[in-house]
This record gives sequence, C-alpha cells and structure tokens, in this order.
Amino acid sequence: MSSADNPASVNSQSHSINSSAYDLVVVGGGIIGAWTAYKAGKRGLKILLLDAQKIGSGASGGLLGALMPHMPERWDGKKQFQFEALEDMPLEIAQLQNETGIDCGFNRCGRLAPIMNETKRGQMLGHGANVDEFWLGKYQWQIVDQPFETDWPSADKAICGLVYDSLSARVNPRGLLNALRSAIIKDDNITLLEGTALTSYDAEAKQAFLSDGQSISFSHIVLSAGNNTFGFIAPELDVATLALGRPIKGQAAMLSADIDPDWPIVFDNGVYVISHGNGKVAIGSTSELEFSDPYATDQKIDDAIKRARELCPLIKDAPVIEKWAGLRPRAAGRDPLIDVMPDHPNVIVSTSGFKITFGVAHKMADVAIEHVMGKLTTTVPDSFKIAAHLAKARRAEIQDNLS
Ligand SMILES: Cc1cc2nc3c(=O)[nH]c(=O)nc-3n(C[C@H](O)[C@H](O)[C@H](O)COP(=O)(O)OP(=O)(O)OC[C@H]3O[C@@H](n4cnc5c(N)ncnc54)[C@H](O)[C@@H]3O)c2cc1C
Repeated sequence: MSSADNPASVNSQSHSINSSAYDLVVVGGGIIGAWTAYKAGKRGLKILLLDAQKIGSGASGGLLGALMPHMPERWDGKKQFQFEALEDMPLEIAQLQNETGIDCGFNRCGRLAPIMNETKRGQMLGHGANVDEFWLGKYQWQIVDQPFETDWPSADKAICGLVYDSLSARVNPRGLLNALRSAIIKDDNITLLEGTALTSYDAEAKQAFLSDGQSISFSHIVLSAGNNTFGFIAPELDVATLALGRPIKGQAAMLSADIDPDWPIVFDNGVYVISHGNGKVAIGSTSELEFSDPYATDQKIDDAIKRARELCPLIKDAPVIEKWAGLRPRAAGRDPLIDVMPDHPNVIVSTSGFKITFGVAHKMADVAIEHVMGKLTTTVPDSFKIAAHLAKARRAEIQDNLS
C-alpha cells in the first residue's frame, strides 16, 4: 500500500467542468462530502464535487482520528446510529483500500481510560451494566486493575483501575481522505473541482453559482461545507448563523515514537494519545470557543502534549513532528446535522458531528444519498434533523438577547 500523504497537499487534479446538468452537486470535500461523492458515484449518479480549496483542507485534514463510541447506557437513536456506523466501518474501509491501494490506518485498537477515585470506578461500572444488550455482546466495556502494557498509561494515573472498551478504534484522517480522493478521481461519474467555491444557489431554479463565475444546473445539492454550511442555510431558516452552528477550534500534535500500533487509545480528561503505527503517536485535542487565529498553534497544545507525556511516559522524550489547528463544525444541537431543507427536498444539509464525525460520516453519506434517491431507509435520529437544531438555535438566540 502506498503511504498516506496529506490529501490537501496533493497537487490539484480537477476534471474540466462538463456544462450539462448534474444529478448531484456535493459542496465541500471534507470527510462528509468526500464519502458522499464517493458513495454516490457507486450509485451511478452524475456528480460534481466542489471544494473551495482541496479535499481535506478543512477540519478533516487533521491528525487525531479517534473513533470513540458513546457510552453503552441510556440508549437512544444517536447511539444506535453511531454504533451501526462504527460496526460498518471496517468493511467500508477495506473496500476503499482494495480499490485504491491506500492504507487508511484503521485499527479497532480499543481504549483505556484511567480512573482516579472509587466514586468514578463505581460510576464507570454502572455505565457498562447493559453493555451486552447495547453492543450486542460483541464488544467489551470492563474495569481492569492495571494497564495492559507498562506505562501505557502510567499506573500512577490509574489509581482505581481503568475502563477498557474494545469498540473504540482509530483511523488516519489524511490516509482516509487521500484514499477517498484517489477513488473519486478514478470514478468517471464524478467531476472534482478543487479551488472553486459555491457562492450561492437557487433551489427552485436548481442552479449553483460558483466563485469562478460559472452557474451549474443540478437536480440535488448536498451542502457539506463544514462550518460554512451554516451560513448557506441560516438565512432561509431565519436564524442567526452563529446560533445555528459555530466553529470550535481544536489543536492536535503528532509525535515520533515507536509504539505498538495495536495498543489501545489512552484517553484521560480530554487528552487522547493514539498510536498510529509507522512510528507516529497523535496527541489531542483542545476545544476552544474563543480564539484569535483559528489555524495557529500555541501554548494550549504544548500543555496537552505535556499532559500526554505524563500520562504515557513511553512518549516522554518523543520529538514533536507536527502541530496542527483547525475548526470543528458544531451545530446547535452538537449532534450531526443531516436533513433536507424545509420546502426544498432537493437541498440536503450534511455537517457537524463535532467530535464523532469520522466514525459516522460514511453513514451520513448513505442518508444524504437516500434523500437524493427519494427513499430514506436509514433511521435518522430526530436530534440530527433541522427542526431539533433549529429549536436549540432559537433558544440560544433568546438567551443571547436576554444576557
Ligand atoms: C483538533 C481536532 C481534532 C479532532 N479530532 C477528531 C477525532 O479524533 N475524531 C473525529 O471523529 N473527529 C475529530 N475532529 C472533528 C472532525 O475533524 C470534524 O468534525 C470533521 O472533519 C468535519 O468534517 P466536514 O466534512 O463536515 O468538514 P470539513 O472537513 O471542514 O470540510 C469542509 C470542506 O468544505 C470546503 N468548503 C467550505 N466552504 C466551501 C464553499 N463555499 N464551497 C466549496 N467548498 C467549501 C472546505 O474547503 C473544506 O474542505 C477533530 C477536529 C479538530 C479540529
């Protein structure tokens, strides 16, 4: 398999635009738009995938790639949707890898989370009481007394043991994006246009207007432009863009360290330590609502690296090879936002997911394509729908007005 380069750094290789109408225009080549275009291509649709910069140039082009399940308790539609997506992922990735020869770095490595006190240990035991019912007896959620490997994490950090789950996994975000890009370029059904943005669209006239002055006819359009999606739909929903969805800055880092690629993710108090194999360990991530430069790294990631080194002493001297910052899209309700626009069933919105997007994007793509084909068969939780996000956005607007 070839190495997983950063897709955003690959030279743009766009097809020339064909002037006839497209069945589907996909706006944004992040993890959501790339899966959507790739999977729609398999259905024989004629697709234009647009990216203002390049595939993987937004939040998706980062370093971490944690695929962390929700806890196996208080089960609901959102947890079921994510569980099914995480279950499907190895097969989806295997198909993509076979097709492209590009390694996506998927590994169901599990996760260890240290427990610092007895109260927490009791709570963690409680969270997993019904694991076999919700995770279908296939994956574990258990309390272990010691790390499996010395200093992964340090036993000092796990005074009251650790929670281990075997459903958590990781993927190499850039490897996955690179594989999707490679498959998209090979697919004659898909035209990839990088370096060109959607400026506006007219749902009734079925026209998309692009930054290079072209207008494109479409039957359906999927708005998967990450944070920029909110600006396209908020005016039509009559809500403030920032109330509907706002960017949350995050910083992450890659260290050079030879850690077994099968070792579990270590997660403690917001800090992830992920062995990606090939001598690389990812650290993340910060969550910042306030920031001056969205793409600058600063002391906050250095603090996270320090905590990661204390957590996992095996990386205490590992050199930092990259630091990275990006903006996560977060819709008002935090959950993914996937729905058709009111009155315009040919306009599909697909964004957000916040910290779980990599584990669900392929299933969000299925939902978007089902909307395009006019037959929704996947069960979509109400909390993913526009109405739920809009209700939260309106509450946020009222609070802002009162404060
Ligand atoms: C530090 C950090 C760590 C993270 N860690 C994880 C993790 O471990 N696991 C996880 O699941 N998630 C994680 N996330 C979140 C995850 O990266 C995002 O939720 C996800 O990448 C969002 O994907 P997207 O496709 O919606 O948006 P993006 O990746 O932002 O893609 C949007 C694309 O749209 C393009 N675009 C924008 N406007 C236009 C326009 N007008 N016309 C055409 N194209 C346009 C952009 O160029 C961009 O390529 C992390 C995020 C950060 C910042």
